[in-house]
Amino acid sequence: MKIAVIGAGIVGICTAYELALDGHNVSVFERNAAVAEDASFACAGHLSASLSHPMAFPNWPSNSLLRDLWRSSGISLGRGITVRDLRWLRAWKAPAKDFAERLACAQSLVTYSLQRLHTIALQASLVHEESQGQLLLFKTEAAQQEQQKKLELLKALGTVGKVMTPAEVRVVEPALGADLKFHSGVFFAQDEVGNCRQFAHLLKGQLLEAGTEFHFNTPVTACSDAGGVQIQTPKGVFSFDRVVLCAGTEGTNLIAPGFKHLPPIRLWSTTISAHIREPLNAPRSAVVDFQQQVSISRMGSRIRVSGGAALGHPGAQGNEKAKQLLFQTLQSHFPGASDYGRNMQVWQGASAYSPDALPLIGPSGSPGVWLNLAHGHNGWSMACGAARLLADLLGGKPAEIDATRLSPGRFKG
Ligand SMILES: Cc1cc2nc3c(=O)[nH]c(=O)nc-3n(C[C@H](O)[C@H](O)[C@H](O)COP(=O)(O)OP(=O)(O)OC[C@H]3O[C@@H](n4cnc5c(N)ncnc54)[C@H](O)[C@@H]3O)c2cc1C
Repeated sequence: MKIAVIGAGIVGICTAYELALDGHNVSVFERNAAVAEDASFACAGHLSASLSHPMAFPNWPSNSLLRDLWRSSGISLGRGITVRDLRWLRAWKAPAKDFAERLACAQSLVTYSLQRLHTIALQASLVHEESQGQLLLFKTEAAQQEQQKKLELLKALGTVGKVMTPAEVRVVEPALGADLKFHSGVFFAQDEVGNCRQFAHLLKGQLLEAGTEFHFNTPVTACSDAGGVQIQTPKGVFSFDRVVLCAGTEGTNLIAPGFKHLPPIRLWSTTISAHIREPLNAPRSAVVDFQQQVSISRMGSRIRVSGGAALGHPGAQGNEKAKQLLFQTLQSHFPGASDYGRNMQVWQGASAYSPDALPLIGPSGSPGVWLNLAHGHNGWSMACGAARLLADLLGGKPAEIDATRLSPGRFKG
């Protein structure tokens, strides 16, 4: 089939790769001048079946009031916040009977995705910056106990977190600041860190070799059903048998009005990246401070710190606040790892989140138009698996994991 992939973030690139592997004639349309320039640009890099970052999956359901849920969520409210954003926050934090099933679905997609990532990297000889393991730090016993049920559930699913004393934690991450006080840690040995943008660029190289067409600086303005799917761009109208929207936070704006209000919302977060001055003083892999909702990851010769989630645009004040939080966390957790303040890259990106913390993968309901988006804080972790799944569903092949809960149809009345 002749297929257009809209969006060349990590999800679009992986989707194009799997579709091309299945023998389809694939064209990629991207409004930016290069791949991975939006949410995939400088993400924290966690490849995490433990879904251990607080924004990767909601905590165990709580019966608290919305006001208290928001306070404990670590999410700040920025400019232009909408009713839809607040509805999302309530759904994200509110008790849900199917919490365990959703967690199992997300965990299985990430596990599948990591296997697929390793296979692709091996087959195509792709070498990207990577490290092994993720450590969660808890300041109090109560905070760690709150995670206990989730840890048990993950263990039953095959993702094991080892609870550690501070002394054991310091063996795993010996460069943690001597003055840093914490109660305990949980270490996920199977989790990884990888460079998302670098991987997207490497995969693009493979796609070019395989003859995939890339249309950069080409925003798609509409998709319409015309005996196939027509997409409109400033460079002209193009016809395809199928179109796959991998357009991140913009994804559902391109389909028919009736489907525009599929639920993903946009959540901003910030990263700072700093060069490592002394490797022995830097993290070996990823450390997540659960209370601060900040992660610190090793990314080759750099450290990347991520956090400061905000609904609505954070604006200059929010940017500065997020930057300070990340900077202070880096200094307290890994003092001496970097020339702080020098050559530091600060970046903000927005990811699309659905209320049930699961992506939308499958037919959109608009003829010929498929979706692969709204992976929230797990887009890098899920990209390779989500792409394989989408290609199987679109090609009418049996999927290797259960896709029922991921269908966009779940949000239509
Ligand atoms: C600070 C931060 C840290 C994160 N950390 C992690 C992490 O540790 N692990 C993890 O798994 N995930 C993480 N994430 C989430 C992850 O980065 C995203 O889920 C993922 O990058 C989404 O990929 P995507 O391809 O769907 O979207 P994007 O990368 O945003 O790509 C969508 C593309 O579509 C293009 N586009 C949009 N509209 C159009 C149009 N009309 N026409 C043409 N092109 C269009 C955009 O230009 C863009 O390039 C993080 C996100 C942020 C912001």
